[in-house]
Parts: sequence; C-alpha cells; structure tokens
Amino acid sequence: MDKGKIVEVQDNIFMIRGVDKSSHSYVVKGDRINLLIDSGLDKNFSLLQKNLLKIGLKVRDIDIVVNTHEHFDHIGANRYFQENAIIAAHRFAATKMAVNDKYVTLYSSGDTNDLSLYVHLWLESKSRFDLGNYTFDIIHTPGHTSGSICIYEPSKKFLFTGDMIFAGGILSYIAESGSVGDYINSIMSLNTRYVEQIYPGHGNLSDNPDNDMKTAIANARNFLKSDKQVTVRPNNETQAQGKKF
Ligand SMILES: [Zn+2]
Repeated sequence: MDKGKIVEVQDNIFMIRGVDKSSHSYVVKGDRINLLIDSGLDKNFSLLQKNLLKIGLKVRDIDIVVNTHEHFDHIGANRYFQENAIIAAHRFAATKMAVNDKYVTLYSSGDTNDLSLYVHLWLESKSRFDLGNYTFDIIHTPGHTSGSICIYEPSKKFLFTGDMIFAGGILSYIAESGSVGDYINSIMSLNTRYVEQIYPGHGNLSDNPDNDMKTAIANARNFLKSDKQVTVRPNNETQAQGKKF
C-alpha cells in the first residue's frame, strides 16, 4: 500500500491522504502563514511528519491547525503542534476538546493515548483566515457533530468539508453530538453557495458538489425512514486526481 500519498489539489494546497482510520490532512502554504486542516490520528503522526517534510515543512512551520470537528481521527495529532501553532476549532467542538470529552471525541473507541488537547482559538461562522494567496471562511455546519465546520474559499470556490459531505453524497455517521435535522439544514444552506470542488476528510475528492449535496440530503431523509444505521465511511485508499508526490 502506498502510505500517506500527497496530492497538490490547488497551488500550494496539499492533501495528505489519511491512512487506516485517519482523516486526510490538508496543508496550505500561505503567503504569510501555513495552515493545516485536521491533524489526523495520533498514531499516524510520524507519517504526517514525513509527508510534511516532502513538501518542505517541519512541524514548527505550521502556524495554525484548524480542526473540522471534534473527532479523534481529525484532532489526534494536535498535541504535536499545539506548543507552536494556534489550534482552532468551532466553539462547539472546543467545548468537548477542552474538557477531554472522550465520549463525544470517540477517543474511547480509537486512539489509545490520553487526550491533552488545547484549543487556542474558538471559531464561529464568519470567522476568516486570510493567508494572502487564499482566504478561508468558516461556516458552522452542525450535523455529523455539533462542532462541525466547513471551510470555504470564496474566490476559488472550493470547500473543505470534514465529515459533513463526502464524494457521492455518502452519509456519514451521525455521531453523539450530531443530528440528522441539523445535517440536512446545514447542507441545504451550503448548497446555496457556489462550490466547484469538495475536499472531504475521508475518501475521494469531488468536482460534483451539487450532486453530492443533493444525494447526502436524500440519504439523510432515507436514514430517518429506516431503523438501521446504514452510514459508512468512504475508503481512503481510492485514487485522487492531481500532482502526486
Ligand atoms: Zn467525524
């Protein structure tokens, strides 16, 4: 298996593909500061560190880590960045991380290390990161969890979706702090924006967001009608388009 594959999905934006249960990480080399979206599993940190070096960055070169939500497979390696970088998450994710809530973060089912998580910056909708070459708007999109955000680049029209929207509209697990109603409402409001590409936390990238969002809403409505949990996580081992490293 080709572990930790890196793809440059936009100029100076690198997707580091998650291995096993880990989320993907996205690294943005900004004009002024460097930003990492989701640190992935704690136990995969050495692989993340190696992949950062391949794109010319050391751990201390990451200035900001933004977590798309409070799950262990997205926040686990924060501990290796939090002494040097600002850790940012939505305030409803931060409330769980700040008290080491292992139930909502799902640490009880996954990574074995104790939590020791800081959140320096509690985000809300309309918070913005201006990196010079890219601008990122934070959109609170509860559903998968209460603290889920999507991160929108308004001039280039792409969206980092964490576990809220996957390619093909696969419905994610509606987790302990989540809600199907919130999920549908969040995606309906996202779908009023112009989005050309989706960069999700697991599985494939997508250049058909409109279809993904409509399918995700339909899947969520069907889920409410059925009495079985039918959600799955996309396979990380599938292929992505773009320049490989
Ligand atoms: Zn999640």
